[in-house]
Parts: sequence; structure tokens; C-alpha cells
Amino acid sequence: MKRGIIVTGGGHGIGKQICEDFIQAGDKVCFIDIDEKRSAEFAKEHSELFFFHGDIANPLTLKEFVEFAMEKMGRIDVVVNNACRGSKGILSSLSYEEFDYMLSIGLKAPYELSRLCKDELIKNKGRIINIASSRAFQSEPDTEAYTSVKGGIVALTHALAMSLAPNVLVNCIAPGWINVTGEQNFSCEDRAAIPAGKIGTPKDISNMVLFLCEQDFITGETITVDGGMNKRMIYHGDWNWYYRVND
Ligand code: NAD
Repeated sequence: MKRGIIVTGGGHGIGKQICEDFIQAGDKVCFIDIDEKRSAEFAKEHSELFFFHGDIANPLTLKEFVEFAMEKMGRIDVVVNNACRGSKGILSSLSYEEFDYMLSIGLKAPYELSRLCKDELIKNKGRIINIASSRAFQSEPDTEAYTSVKGGIVALTHALAMSLAPNVLVNCIAPGWINVTGEQNFSCEDRAAIPAGKIGTPKDISNMVLFLCEQDFITGETITVDGGMNKRMIYHGDWNWYYRVND
């Protein structure tokens, strides 16, 4: 029996790799993306890959997307809440409306999709995989909106895991720096700053998504996949780390 997989933001980057990997695993995949041209091109590559055009910030669009997915796949076993985008924060005077839009994409949409798919997921003993960021736990200045939605999705993950137990296992992945641009030439400083010695790839994240869908004893967790970046302790002057103070 082929599983029915739903992915948000499947037209590019990490989401695209997740779609590819489920297709390779023999599943049917339905993805939503706001970028119509690029996504339609991608969907043409596989007969079991279905594209729905829309903005996940709109709850009506999400409802239509789930109906489309049921029509194309006949069942839903896995929901991957992946789509998001970058944003600024308080130093840039990010407006209330823009902050709210970020919440709609990064937090309200994952909740609404989970709600719309709940009965299917319970029936099929399914999985929800949320994509957060290591920025859920650490911050640079001027990142309030993105950081808030990523912190929120970590908490949403354990809340959903308790509500939907034992039928649906819900987990989250917090990626670090993942190369989604195809850039080949990173500086040796960039690579060395990450304990694993490389910039991550979409495959590093999709591998974890597929693993979390195969196992049955992890739920409510957020797994950080960042090459160890968040584990490095930094003191000015130690181990070649220097903090430059701007006057
Ligand atoms: P990406 O920009 O390469 O791809 C995101 C996809 O989502 C695009 O196809 C875009 O069109 C789509 N999308 C954006 N907003 C949408 C909306 N409102 N409705 C529908 N589709 C929408 O991004 P990525 O780097 O692959 O990121 C995927 C996930 O991983 C995001 O949740 C991101 O926050 C997270 N993440 C990425 C990194 C990284 O370094 N790339 C690090 C940590 C977390």
C-alpha cells in the first residue's frame, strides 16, 4: 500500500528533497507551494507527485489542498509542515501585520493542516513532521518573527503529540544552516565554524524526516540537525574565537 504524503513548500529546497525521497520510497506525494512556475515544473518529473498552488497563510486554501490531496491519493499518512520564509524583527520595525503573516505561515498553518488531517492520520496511524530551526533556541538580533514561529512550532509539536497519542506520532526537526541555493564555494571559515565541518544539505534533513516516519518510539521531540553548531561554547579569545566590538 502506497502511503499518502502531504508536504508544504515542496517546490524548492528542503521541501523539494523531502518530496523526492518519499517518491523514491514508493509513496504518493502531494505538495502545496506559493511559487507556481517552479513547482509545476517539478511536479512534471514524477507521475505520483501532485502540486497544488496556494498560500498556506489562507485557511480556505489549506482546506482545498487537503481535499485535493484526498482526491489524488485517497489517503493521508504523513503531514510534513515545512514551508516558511525569512523575516525581520523589532530593529527593522517589522509591522504587526507582517508579524501576524509570519505566524500564519509558520504556526497557524501547521496547526490547521494537522486539524484538517486529524481523522485520516488517526485512522492510518500516521505521522506529523514539523520543520523548525535551530533559531528556535538561539537568536541573532532583529529576528523576532521567524524565531517566534520556530519556537512556537517546537511547542506545537509536543502539544499535538500528547493530543494525538498513541495513534499519531508527532516530531519536529530543527535544522541549522542548510544550503538550498546550490552554492559550491563556502569559505573555510564558514565550514570550520560548524563542528561537522560542512554546510548542511537538504538531504541531511530529508533523511531525518524519513527516519522519523519509520520509527515508533519517538514522539513530541525536536531533533536538532545542525552539524553541532548550537553545541559550540564560545568565549572571546579561546579556541580561536574573537568577538569584534563595533564602536
Ligand atoms: P526555501 O525558500 O528553499 O523553500 C521554501 C519553499 O516554501 C519555497 O518553494 C516557497 O515558495 C515555499 N513557500 C514559502 N512561503 C509559502 C507560503 N506562504 N505558502 C506556500 N508555500 C510557501 O526554504 P528552505 O531553506 O528549504 O526551508 C524549508 C524549511 O526549513 C523552512 O521551514 C525553514 O524555516 C527551515 N529551515 C531552513 C534552514 C536553511 O538554512 N535553509 C535552516 C533552518 C530551518
